Amino acid sequence: MLHKFTNKQVANILREISACYEAKEENPFKIRAYNNAADAIEKIDSDIGDLWAENRLEDVPGVGESLREHLNELFRTGKVKHFEETKKNLPQGMFELLKISGIGAKTAFKLSSFFHLDNKDTAAAQLKKLAEKGKIKGLPGFGEESEHKILQNIEKLTHNETRFPLHTAKEISSKVLAFLKESPYVFRANYLGSLRRESAMVGDIDIAVATENSKEVINHFAQYPKIIKIISKGNIKASAVITGGFQVDIMTQNPASYGSLLQHFTGSKLHNIHLRKLALDKGLSLSEYGIKKGSQTLKFSSEEDFYHFLDMQYIPPELREDLGEIELAVKNKLPKLIELSNIKGDLQTHTTMSDGENSFAEMVSKAKELKYEYFGITDHQWSTATHTTEVINRLIKARRLEIEQYNSSHTIPRVLFGIEINVSADNRVVYSDNLLRKFDYVIGAIHSSFGQTKEQITKRLLTLIENPLIKIIAHPTGRLLLEREGYEADWDIIFQACKKHNKVLEINGQPSRLDLPDSFVREAVKSGVLLSTNTDAHSINDLGFMPNAVSVARRGWCGKEDVINALSLGKMLKFLGR
Ligand SMILES: [Zn+2]
Repeated sequence: MLHKFTNKQVANILREISACYEAKEENPFKIRAYNNAADAIEKIDSDIGDLWAENRLEDVPGVGESLREHLNELFRTGKVKHFEETKKNLPQGMFELLKISGIGAKTAFKLSSFFHLDNKDTAAAQLKKLAEKGKIKGLPGFGEESEHKILQNIEKLTHNETRFPLHTAKEISSKVLAFLKESPYVFRANYLGSLRRESAMVGDIDIAVATENSKEVINHFAQYPKIIKIISKGNIKASAVITGGFQVDIMTQNPASYGSLLQHFTGSKLHNIHLRKLALDKGLSLSEYGIKKGSQTLKFSSEEDFYHFLDMQYIPPELREDLGEIELAVKNKLPKLIELSNIKGDLQTHTTMSDGENSFAEMVSKAKELKYEYFGITDHQWSTATHTTEVINRLIKARRLEIEQYNSSHTIPRVLFGIEINVSADNRVVYSDNLLRKFDYVIGAIHSSFGQTKEQITKRLLTLIENPLIKIIAHPTGRLLLEREGYEADWDIIFQACKKHNKVLEINGQPSRLDLPDSFVREAVKSGVLLSTNTDAHSINDLGFMPNAVSVARRGWCGKEDVINALSLGKMLKFLGR
């Protein structure tokens, strides 16, 4: 009998074993092999259990022969003898501590041994108490600061448990949505909640379906091939766990009342509370079934009709956070948000000339498929420690020639020659102005020493903004979702400086970045700062990250006039001074 494990579960098992090896100071190659295999299993699109059943574990990079045998045992028997033995003499609490960001195998081992954290279920809570009482800072190798960090990260652990990045949520939910739409009984299907509002971090995957035959739709959903476990299955609702450990909830509604359901469960909570108050003043009460007027409940098939009935404009889901959108909708003054179709080009991309996976030709040909009017290639600066100026000049010349050849024989996209340069920890731009002038435009970013003080980070950002040759500041806060908070900077000063020097802040569409974050975008827009939605693509697939960046722009109340890459080619060239 096959034992079911999600890819994430298998990856976690391997990471635990790798942590055991690390705690026991075993061969580093062994440690890395387990970690690499865990990463690979988490990333692959196929279900690891399916691959095993089809005898295709060899297809997973990094899974060698001995690991295949272990996985074979895992799927057959539900456990692996060798793994159990490896974990045996270690404090079991260390495996829970590993989930806390910033705590690696050695630290987890040290803490759980010293404090005898032997219970996996309580280890994190116990450690939290110890940190609160100040018992960690006294241990060798720890201090006030590390104790504080541990406490912060434990709190984040409980907070992030059921939340995951938008891009991941969409990859998974779009397949469920497509599957649902295969049923002839599904009239409409939409995401709900934070997923529909395009929040950077999403909770569960909730989907609404408009249908006249709920039972058929629920039965169809239950047939979704990636379901691991059905949690509940009723007449109008169902809930299931799918591959990867994600929970999907669907609810159905008659098409005549679908708009009310969609509106109600899209939220946000605060938006709906405000809306209910406003309705109450008109003697109306709102619910997922419709709008109650006296003893009569009015039905709404569309959200547009629902909002219009309340004498206001339709409010796009991305704005429904009670941040002033209701007041403006009542006055008919909502901004017209930017749309993906407004985007005319991508201004941050990388090729094999630096750390990209695809060549110039491959990247440009993909950009052509996307029908971009222009396409900026911005490989990272070459290190001056390993490249002489002569070599750098030669590389620039070669790339310039490549671009000129392309541009002279193609109408779209017009390829622009950019570069992404660093500001060093000691606040310097290493490339000379003469060198920077060889590019069509320059992007500047912080790529190191993220732990500096607010003052130092602000100074470094200002160095980039005030440099007349730099146009765009990339991934301005440096955050990595679930991994690293953005660094602190004096954002008021940064926004003012950008406005004064006509500099652009990037909205980076990499799934783990989404940087600037939406709340910062909103402030930037209010300050009159221009933005640029870029993919920061390091492969042709990454060029598909543009919708992520546009989502953030919309949540930040951007119109197309706020985003430079909504400019036509002619205006863009003018903007760049070309
Ligand atoms: Zn970068």
